[in-house]
Amino acid sequence: MGTFDNKTVIVTGASRGIGRAIAIDLARRGASVVVNYNASEAAAQEVVRAITDAGGKAIAFKADVSKADEAGALVKACIDTYGKLDILVNNAGTTRDTLLMSMSEADWDLVMHADLKSVFNCCKAAIRPMIRARGGRIVNIASVVGLSGQGGQTNYAAAKAGVIAFTKSLAKEVGSRNITVNCVAPGFIETDMTRALSEAQTTALMAQIPLGRLGQAADVAHAVA
Ligand code: NAP
Repeated sequence: MGTFDNKTVIVTGASRGIGRAIAIDLARRGASVVVNYNASEAAAQEVVRAITDAGGKAIAFKADVSKADEAGALVKACIDTYGKLDILVNNAGTTRDTLLMSMSEADWDLVMHADLKSVFNCCKAAIRPMIRARGGRIVNIASVVGLSGQGGQTNYAAAKAGVIAFTKSLAKEVGSRNITVNCVAPGFIETDMTRALSEAQTTALMAQIPLGRLGQAADVAHAVA
């Protein structure tokens, strides 16, 4: 018996990186999982296979969660498939790093939509079914950068700081309904997102990490669980 037996969970952006690790970890602990992806269909199907091969339950569902109607369809897919939604993990996110001087409006808007509006969209779609079910759990993946700031990431840091304030505010709205809303704010984790950093950036970041190594996606998954 796992801690999450009979629980259903949506993990957004679960085709790769941290979301993939969260989906696999919660499935291993007994949850039935919706593996959301946007572009990486083959990778999402591979995550579903990894879960079902290990005896777990999962489906893949394509939705661009920066769009309200697609986030709504994602929540509906979970309820249609498993009968309910117990846990929402808002993990989907992306970066478009550059100094403010050279940041285009499109780079700003894309990150705001993928990293912050996506959290609004998915929470908005999930909150009514959770209230009706008299309980739920929401975990939003923020970032240490949303607390500390980071040169070259005004868009990303602002979006993640927004996720933190959104989380605290929604927690105050729905705590009395037995719904908890929390953030996990990871440091630097080895994924495609951080593999895109230059060697100089990685060396500078490593100098700030007491362990002297990047974190692993599984570390974040354990914190979420
Ligand atoms: P990643 O390896 O780049 O993976 C990003 C995931 O998000 C992919 O599965 C991608 O799916 C999905 N995604 C992006 N935009 C989407 C959209 N509009 N709709 C649906 N899915 C979307 O990133 P990661 O490093 O695992 O990061 C995951 C989360 O952790 C992000 O919120 C990130 O900001 C946060 N975080 C990461 C680090 C780090 O050091 N890596 C540190 C702190 C916080 P497709 O490929 O299918 O589009």
